[in-house]
Amino acid sequence: MGMKKEGLKLFENGKRIDGRAYDELRPIKMEVGVLKRADGSCYLEWGGNKVLAAVYGPRECLPRHTQDPLKARINYRYNMAPFSTDERVRPGPSRRSIEISKLSKEALEHVIFTEYFPKTSIDIFVEILQADAGTRCAGLTAASLALADAGIPMKSLITACAAGKIDGKVVLDLGKLEDNFGEADLPIAYMPRTKELVYLQMDGDLTKDEFKEALRLALKGCDEIYRIQRDALKKAYEGEVNGR
Ligand code: ADP
Repeated sequence: MGMKKEGLKLFENGKRIDGRAYDELRPIKMEVGVLKRADGSCYLEWGGNKVLAAVYGPRECLPRHTQDPLKARINYRYNMAPFSTDERVRPGPSRRSIEISKLSKEALEHVIFTEYFPKTSIDIFVEILQADAGTRCAGLTAASLALADAGIPMKSLITACAAGKIDGKVVLDLGKLEDNFGEADLPIAYMPRTKELVYLQMDGDLTKDEFKEALRLALKGCDEIYRIQRDALKKAYEGEVNGR
């Protein structure tokens, strides 16, 4: 969100700067099982975002004093590669990445059956290889598939997507310019099976009605992404299920 260049139009004649309609997602593809040494993994491309998620565990939680005797401990690390944006990102945690990691971990604590695996940790690494707005949603969506690939029991997959406001119009899935020069961004994640929200943030301002419309659009986006997630899992496991 920020000051726009004079004359830059983000929404004109019913179309956005990249030609999308107001309710259209950027192209998304995902593949699971891409890393041999992780227990579960997923590679995801979403518009210009490229994201790799790796899951390890449940494994013995170390150091031992960090163990929870009643449930698994979830660790989530969102990290931007130094080469992922125009300006080199300083390596190591930033305020922003710590915040995203914390909220993403809390979202996953709602869906993973952590009580099945006391004293263990489930470690989730999300590496943003290329960032183009919407990386927290792309990361969570990929992490959820990597967890499924690792065979970790969950109440549901989770699916994340944002809606926002550009030139006064509420639209789905902001691209980079829209994120930089738009008026608001509302990333959410939810459990498609139970329709429970597990993540919600808001940057910028929306009226009550705009908020409702943004939430409606983001949920619609999530439903489309959920289909792509399920297809990716089917593609990876159909052969196994059929004994091939
Ligand atoms: P999200 O990626 O979830 O939309 P933000 O709204 O904070 O998160 O960031 C929007 C976009 O701005 C990112 O996807 C990335 O392209 C860019 N960006 C974020 N942080 C940095 C940074 N430290 N350096 C350069 N670009 C960044």
